[in-house]
Amino acid sequence: MQCETIKSGIECTFMSKKGCGFLGGSCKPILDKCDGCERILKQADQNYCLSFPDPAAKWRLGACGMATHAKTESKGGETKVRVGQQKQKKK
Ligand code: SF4
Repeated sequence: MQCETIKSGIECTFMSKKGCGFLGGSCKPILDKCDGCERILKQADQNYCLSFPDPAAKWRLGACGMATHAKTESKGGETKVRVGQQKQKKK
């Protein structure tokens, strides 16, 4: 459904006939770390993210994975190997 609050007219999964279902009832402004990102939506007195309702949550554990101006850090090319997840053949 299209947003009827901050990002008016933009499709959003949190919007329903009852209003915005996101925590607090609306999107949160971007952080300083977001400056330069192409996903910023400029509104009258605040800037918001076009992709996420709470930009702070995307930066909590490192660089935002959707940032167009910053690269995410990889962990040295390590690959996770799952152990004990194979299906056993039926006899
Ligand atoms: S995509 Fe990430 S870096 Fe860009 S505005 Fe949104 S939260 Fe900020």
